[in-house]
Amino acid sequence: MLHTLTEYTKEEAYIERVNGVLYFLKCPQCGTEHGSAMSPDLLPDSLTCFGSPTHEDWVKYKKERGLTNLDIATIVGITPESVKNQTAPSKSLPKWVVTMLYEWKM
Ligand SMILES: [Zn+2]
Repeated sequence: MLHTLTEYTKEEAYIERVNGVLYFLKCPQCGTEHGSAMSPDLLPDSLTCFGSPTHEDWVKYKKERGLTNLDIATIVGITPESVKNQTAPSKSLPKWVVTMLYEWKM
């Protein structure tokens, strides 16, 4: 899940204790991990997060912008079939998609 780029202090962030040994600093909005330590005091003082791009974000982005695979193919310089193939839910999102989604949420 993507969200707008947000900075949280350690106090605003979510700290999860795992197995009674490690503490994880997590984004309160999307749960992305931003560090781990043996003690909460050793965690970073803040985190900056925009989430992790998902295929659902890609579908929302295309719908919101009114873009078809042909439009995207023209922008990126590949074929519509290649857009469909590279953005298939079974595959991790290509870097050019992540870049478009990052710009979308900024
Ligand atoms: Zn986040």
